[in-house]
Amino acid sequence: MEIQQIKRDLHGEPVGRAGSFCCDFCDAAIAIGEPVMYDIASVDEMPNLEALVDLPDGWALDAARCRECEVDSISPETDGWEEAVVMLSINESNGVLSADTTEITVVDYSPGNEGTYPPPVPLAFFTQHGYSMSRWGFLRNFVENTDLDIEPIQLYRKRLAEMDQEER
Ligand SMILES: [Zn+2]
Repeated sequence: MEIQQIKRDLHGEPVGRAGSFCCDFCDAAIAIGEPVMYDIASVDEMPNLEALVDLPDGWALDAARCRECEVDSISPETDGWEEAVVMLSINESNGVLSADTTEITVVDYSPGNEGTYPPPVPLAFFTQHGYSMSRWGFLRNFVENTDLDIEPIQLYRKRLAEMDQEER
């Protein structure tokens, strides 16, 4: 992992929407005065996915976490994605929020060739939630927070429970 590369790729990246900044899992407002936890990701090898959605070039901000949704590790890791959980600061300039990576703390890191094979994702999910859905670390928190109880979600819950069993 190249920390300088992460800093370069993410510095100045816009965050939030229309001046508001919310948790990507539970929608709670996030205060910008102190460091914020982010899932970040970089494509290592995702040939099937590349055909379906636009994937980031280099490191991208994948999901912001409020205090309630903070984690201490990437769980489970996904094969094909280089992933990290980091703490970074948020800049505000004329009401526009952006990532400030001058100081960045890496909480956990997973190389691109480690972890579980990516989850199968229906195209509609990609359309609504983006490529994040192809990372188990995102999906775990997503299924914990969603009210949806449709088939793919039920399958993810089952698979995640199996993975937890396998780890023990
Ligand atoms: Zn949250």
